[in-house]
Amino acid sequence: MNITKPYASTLDLIGHTPLVLLKGPSQAAGCEIWGKCEFANPGSSVKDRAALYIIRDAEARGEIEPGGTVVEGTAGNTGIGIALVANARGYKTVIVMPDNQSKEKMDTLRALGAELVLVPPTKFADPSHFVHTSRRLAEETPGAVWANQFDNIANRKAHIEGTAPELWEQLEGRIDGFTCAAGTGGTIAGVGMGLKAFDENVRIALTDPHGAALYNYYATGELKAEGSSVAEGIGQGRITANLEGAPIDDQYRISDEEGLHWVGRLLCEEGLCLGLSSGINVAGAVELGRKLAAEGRKDARVATILCDTGFRYLSTLYNAEWLRSKNLPVFEWL
Ligand code: PMP
Repeated sequence: MNITKPYASTLDLIGHTPLVLLKGPSQAAGCEIWGKCEFANPGSSVKDRAALYIIRDAEARGEIEPGGTVVEGTAGNTGIGIALVANARGYKTVIVMPDNQSKEKMDTLRALGAELVLVPPTKFADPSHFVHTSRRLAEETPGAVWANQFDNIANRKAHIEGTAPELWEQLEGRIDGFTCAAGTGGTIAGVGMGLKAFDENVRIALTDPHGAALYNYYATGELKAEGSSVAEGIGQGRITANLEGAPIDDQYRISDEEGLHWVGRLLCEEGLCLGLSSGINVAGAVELGRKLAAEGRKDARVATILCDTGFRYLSTLYNAEWLRSKNLPVFEWL
């Protein structure tokens, strides 16, 4: 195992995450399925990368000064990343979040010193939606900058310049496919663009949860959502600025049950405790791997994102009562 060199700043701990071969998914797909361990970031999710790039971009543009405030609307993980980076850079953090997200994320944000504003979940068109509320708060707060993760392309740049070259190097310049779900779309668009710059033949697939509109958009051109999902952090209903121009070759739609199947198997067979978006990503990677294997590429290599730690969902995904209340299967060991 490689031991990385010591870092001069805590912010350098963001990114350069490990990549691991997933045995069960590889067997199911008939080719190699690799997981990028984004839960290994300091804030335990992939969103630390976007937080760092967004704050550095605001600094480079002169939009924030020492003692200033970063305001954001987020399902939680971006807020956690922003709070950590803001603390390290001497800024305050205000986070607006829908009140149906996991209690662990709310407790974590408060523990990190962020000011938390909870709003009821509602349609994007509603002015009280968490994204619009966060923009208004940023406008009203002196010395504040709005992170605007959905439409600020500093977000996907973190993946063009970070995640994609890391994957390319870790797999020694041979990747056949990449897939993940979209929240802001920063990860799928940025990794897709970054990998295509190395090799335009890398197959990029969007893995969409139910209740999101992107599967239909990439399949038929129409933004249309069907069904619903309890997965946090993913599921988009519009083409965000981060998604504009994303090089999507293929698309899959994955149910919460399929995602949970992989969350359960990765935990009890491989010792990885993950959130539901990771399970949905792995289910998508298995589909992409099967497709490539069926095309005769038995040695295909597919990568996906293990977005965040399951410890963030002890009161939901890993709680029998909660699973039952959502009509989802309960892990047998619970
Ligand atoms: N999974 C989780 C748990 C997340 O919090 C997010 C971020 N919203 C994603 C996946 C999706 O990442 P992105 O915003 O880059 O599309």
